[in-house]
Amino acid sequence: MSHRCLSHLEAVARAATVRNLAYALDVDLTTGDELFRTVTTVRFTADPGAETFLEARPERLLGATLNGVELPAEAFAEGRLRLADLAADNTVVVSAEYAYTRSSEGMHRFVDPADKQVYVYAQPSITDAPRFMACFDQPDLKAPVALSVTADPSWLVRANAEGVQNPPGRWEFPATKPVATYLITLVAGPYVEVTDSHDGIPLGLYARASYAEVLERDAPEILSLTKAFLDRYHELFGVRYPFGKYDQAFVPEFSWGAMEFPGCVVFRDELLFRAAVTDTERLERAAIIAHEMAHMWFGDLVTMRWWDDLWLNESFATYMGYRLVAEVTPWPQAWTRFGVGRKAWGYAADQRPSTHPIAPTEVADTDAAFANFDGISYAKGCSALRQLVAFIGDEAFLNGLRAHFDKHAWGNATLADLLGALSLASGRDLDAWAQAWLRTAQVNTLRPVIEWAPDGSYASVTVEQTAAEQYPTLRPHRIGLGWFDEHGAWQRTEIEVTGALTPVPQLSGVRGRGLLLNDGDLTFAKVRLDERTRAELPALLAAQPDPLSRSLWWNSAWDAVRDAEWPATELVELAAAALPAEPDVTIVESVFGLARYAATRFVPVDGQAAARAALAGAAKTLLATAEPGSGHQLAAARTLISTAAEDDRAVLRGWLTGADVPAGLAVDAELRWAILGRLAVLGDVAEEEIDAELQRDTSDKGEQEAVRVRASRPDPAAKERAFDLVVTEQGQSNRIAVAAGAGLWQPEHAELTAPFVARFFAELPRSEGRSGDMLAHLSKAAYPSYAVSEDTLAAARVALAGDMHPLLRRALADETDDLARALRAQQAA
Ligand SMILES: [Zn+2]
Repeated sequence: MSHRCLSHLEAVARAATVRNLAYALDVDLTTGDELFRTVTTVRFTADPGAETFLEARPERLLGATLNGVELPAEAFAEGRLRLADLAADNTVVVSAEYAYTRSSEGMHRFVDPADKQVYVYAQPSITDAPRFMACFDQPDLKAPVALSVTADPSWLVRANAEGVQNPPGRWEFPATKPVATYLITLVAGPYVEVTDSHDGIPLGLYARASYAEVLERDAPEILSLTKAFLDRYHELFGVRYPFGKYDQAFVPEFSWGAMEFPGCVVFRDELLFRAAVTDTERLERAAIIAHEMAHMWFGDLVTMRWWDDLWLNESFATYMGYRLVAEVTPWPQAWTRFGVGRKAWGYAADQRPSTHPIAPTEVADTDAAFANFDGISYAKGCSALRQLVAFIGDEAFLNGLRAHFDKHAWGNATLADLLGALSLASGRDLDAWAQAWLRTAQVNTLRPVIEWAPDGSYASVTVEQTAAEQYPTLRPHRIGLGWFDEHGAWQRTEIEVTGALTPVPQLSGVRGRGLLLNDGDLTFAKVRLDERTRAELPALLAAQPDPLSRSLWWNSAWDAVRDAEWPATELVELAAAALPAEPDVTIVESVFGLARYAATRFVPVDGQAAARAALAGAAKTLLATAEPGSGHQLAAARTLISTAAEDDRAVLRGWLTGADVPAGLAVDAELRWAILGRLAVLGDVAEEEIDAELQRDTSDKGEQEAVRVRASRPDPAAKERAFDLVVTEQGQSNRIAVAAGAGLWQPEHAELTAPFVARFFAELPRSEGRSGDMLAHLSKAAYPSYAVSEDTLAAARVALAGDMHPLLRRALADETDDLARALRAQQAA
C-alpha cells in the first residue's frame, strides 16, 4: 500500500496534541507463512475535540475503534488512520494483518536453508514500525510498550523487556520504560542462547540453531567485551545501564550492522564468525558492540527530538565505540583502523554531490532522514567529536555529558541541548566551532608549504588550508604535527590551524624529515605531503614506529590518487612494496583493499593486469613469511585469491583439494567460496562444481555465495540471470540480489557485460515492489563501477534526468560521481 512519509511539521503538531501516551501491542505469529496479526491498543490524552492520526501499513485492516466506536473505512488512507474529535482520555484499538518481509524492513521472516527452521524479528528502522503496529511513528513521542506475543510453543521470544512464557506459546512482557517507536523490537524463533550476568545485569546472547556451535565459540569473547564496556560506560557516564537486562541477538539477513534496541540489541549474524577472521574483523565487531551499547544512553535513554539529530546519535556512538575498544580491549590500534578504514568512507561521502553539513538545519521528512544515514553522519561526525574533545578537553566533555544525561533522562534532547551542556562544563562558547564544523559541508585540505635552508633544515614551514570551490569554509583544526628529527626519532607537537595560512615558527631551523600534518588523527581533513616526503615514503613507512602515523601517510596517498594528483600506480607500487613488512594487520588489510580498488578502477585499463599482479606478488611474499594462522596470513591469502591471474589458478585449485596449503591457513567455507569465485571469473568453474560446493555448505551464506559465483562466470546466460536477480526478480531475499550484483560485474568481463550497463540505468529505476532504501542499497551493490568510460557516464546521466525514487537518485548520482572520479584518475595517469 502506498503511504505518505511523515514531515517534520506534522511531527511537531502531533507532539503538541498527543500526551501521556502508552502502547499495548499483541502480536500473533501463528497465522501462516505470509501474514501475521497484531492488535495495538494506544492510550493517550488530548484536548477534547482535537484531531490527529496514527500510522499503520497493514495488508488488511481488520478493525479500528476510537473510544469504543468503530472508525469509518474512509478514516484509513495512505498508511494513516485519522482520529477526529478526540476526547480528553483516548483509547484506540487497531487490529490488522501485516506482511512479513525478506528485506529486513518491518517484520522479517527467515527460513534457514540449513534446517528449515523459521526465525522472525521486528526491525522498525526509521519508518517501518507501522509495518507491524499502529503508532505515532516519531522519535519524540516516547511511550511505555507492553508486549504480548503468541508464537510456536517451541520458540524463544525476546524483546526490550524481560518476558515470561505462560502457557507455552504465549509470552507476556511488562511495559517498558518510555521508548521511541524506532526502538521497539522482538526476536522470535528456535534461537539458542548463552546467558551470563555482570554487576547485577542479566546478559543473553542469541543465534539461530544452525549457529549454535559458532555462538558457543564466540560467546566468551563477546561476553567479556560486553562486561568490560558496561564497566567503562558506568565510569564515564555516571548513570547506570538503564534497561534492566542486556540481550544481544545475532539474526539472519539483517541489512544494517546492528541496531540499538534497548535491552535487546540486534546484530547481523555475519558478526558471529563461522570462518577464520583477522584481528581487524574482531576489532570492528568489538567497536560495533561498544557502539550499540553507547546508544543505550545516547539515543535510547536520551533520544533525539527529530531526525535532524540522527547524525549526533551515530557520530557519538561511533566515537564511543572506537574509544572504548582502544581503552579496554586487546586492540589499542582501534583509532588506526578508524583512520585507515572508516574515515575513508566519510571523506568519500563528504566529496560526493549529496554532501551535506554534519548537522543539517532542517530534515523536512522521513525520506530525507533516510538519505542522511551515511559516512558523514558516522565517520565525519565521529571525527568532529574527536576534534571537539581535543578542543574542550576530556574532563569537560564527560562532565557535560553527565549533566546532559541527568537532565534529559527518559526524554528527548537536541544538539543545542548537548552543546549547552558542553559549553557550561567547559566554560567555552561553542557556537563558532559548531557553525564551522557542524553547519557546513565538505572537507578542507591541509598542505605543508616548506622552504628549505641550504643545510637541509626547514627555513620555514606554513600550513596551507584550502576548501572546495563551492564550499569555501575554512575551519579551526587542532592537529598534531609529526616529523623525524636528525637522530631519526619521531617528534610531535600540537598546533592550532586557523585560516588559509598558519605559520609554524617552532619548526624553523629544525632538520626534519617526513613532516606529517594531523599526526594523531585528531581532525577531519585531507592531508597532502611535501615532495620530499612523497619521494621518501617507502623508507619513511618502514622507519615509522607508530601505526596511526603510518595510516595517515596511507590516507594521504589514497586521497592524492582519488583526486588525480598522484597516478594510481604509485599507490599500488607503494602498497606492494610496503605491506609484506607491515606489522599492523589492520593496515595490511585496509591498504590492500584500497590498492585493489585503485588497481581495478583508477589504473588505466591497459595497466590493470600488471597492477593486480603486483598486489598478488606482494600477497605471495607476505604468505611466505607470515606466521601460520595469523591475520597477516589470512589477509595475504584473501588478497592473492582476489587478484589471482591465470598463472595462479593451479595454486588456488590446490588449496581447494588440500594441496600445498600454507601451514596454519584454514581453507574454510568462506575461503573456499572466495577461491571458487575467483576461479569462476577466470573461466575455470562449471555449474556442477558450484552445485557440489552448495552440497558442502547448505547454509544461507552458501546459497548467497553460490549466486555470486554463478554470476561471476564469463557466460552470457549467467550474466543475464544475475541481471534479472538484481533488477527484476521479486520475492528473493535482499541478500540474493546483492550477491548477484557482486558477481555480475568483473573488470575482466568488460566486453561481456557491456550490454548490461545501459540496461542497468534504464531498468533499475523501474524495478517495482522495492522500497527506496532497498533500491539505493542495490544501486550501490550492483553499480557497473568497473565500466569506467564516457559512455557509462552518459548512460547514467540520461537515467538521472528521468523519474526515480529520490533515495535511488541520490545513490545513483553519488556512484556516478565516483565513476567520474575514476575516469579523471585514469586520464591523469
Ligand atoms: Zn548507531
